[in-house]
Amino acid sequence: VTEAIIPSLPRLDDLATAGTAITTFAGMDQVQGGFGGRMFWARQRAMVFRRDFATTGRPTSVATVDLVSVPYPTRFGLWRAALSPWEYLSLTNRMLIVRWTESDGRRRTLLFEPTDVDRGWHTPYFKAIAAATSPPLVRAMVTELGSVREHLRAAGIAPEEIDYLVFDHLHAQDVRRWIGTTKPAADISPDAPVAPYFPNARLVVQRAELAGLLEAQPSQRPWYQVETFHDLRPEGILAIDGDVLLGPGVALLATPGHVPGNQTLVLNTDTGIWAVSENAIATECFTPEHSLIPGVAGWAPAWQQELIMNVNTLETTGDQYNSMIIEKTIVDPVPSDPRFLQFFPSSELTSNPAWPGTRPTFTHGTITHG
Ligand SMILES: [Zn+2]
Repeated sequence: VTEAIIPSLPRLDDLATAGTAITTFAGMDQVQGGFGGRMFWARQRAMVFRRDFATTGRPTSVATVDLVSVPYPTRFGLWRAALSPWEYLSLTNRMLIVRWTESDGRRRTLLFEPTDVDRGWHTPYFKAIAAATSPPLVRAMVTELGSVREHLRAAGIAPEEIDYLVFDHLHAQDVRRWIGTTKPAADISPDAPVAPYFPNARLVVQRAELAGLLEAQPSQRPWYQVETFHDLRPEGILAIDGDVLLGPGVALLATPGHVPGNQTLVLNTDTGIWAVSENAIATECFTPEHSLIPGVAGWAPAWQQELIMNVNTLETTGDQYNSMIIEKTIVDPVPSDPRFLQFFPSSELTSNPAWPGTRPTFTHGTITHG
């Protein structure tokens, strides 16, 4: 993309970049043999990545905090597998705080999925639910568990210490209050540009995700707050293309699927390798044979599939299967229960008595390291 689609947005090619390129999966799109050929290739390369990545070191610490539980369509989160008649299931959004030390001694802090929850409600999907639902029912469907600012304050981390803001994808996000804007914003700062709450932080995003959301097709629009990305401070953005190593044991892999510009945070920890994304909503979606959610264990073999995708738009569903094969191959099993993998869904399926039939068999809840 060489032309700015929106006049005030910087040309996407002019944005600075981040990290050290990882070439293990380079050329995947040229592999012959269609989706199946690429899947075979991806699984082989994922084993190479797993071995190499473990040698890059470990971050100093990893912690998670809970932000909010929200309703999500069952037929998207568990695709066609669950038998539940209920329209919704419940997901809990979490933020990860990842810290490491560079070789020159500088400390780095990365926030993964720092959702500005108040602003998230302006996403067309959530606005439509709120408009169609009585307030008491909304209260039964939504639980606010803490804001990004509150959690950081409680952890003793100042806004100035944050270096990187990363999302697996930008559905429901509005990052203006985090990285600031170049112009006033009528809804939240009518008289002056929005000042960045994180003055030193930069949003690390796949260029494909920015390009895709700015030119969102109608089928993608319920999930994005497109206009909030028009006047972002360009100094607050680092655009990447594909896979990068950000720090010791901290990498981002391009995992097109849930959206075309999707990415997965990969962490090397005391318990081995983790992958964090929203390509699946529960770790049992990677080993559905162990799932007790009605419908899931039977659906997978009936349709010859070894995993259950989280699909709410359909642009890259074929690629998503292969991206999830990579995620499944690079991670370690859970030490206390090896039936399940160290895939941490950034929005994790959560038991909600309002919607029986989608209670998860296993939940991670948190990652703790260091
Ligand atoms: Zn999404």
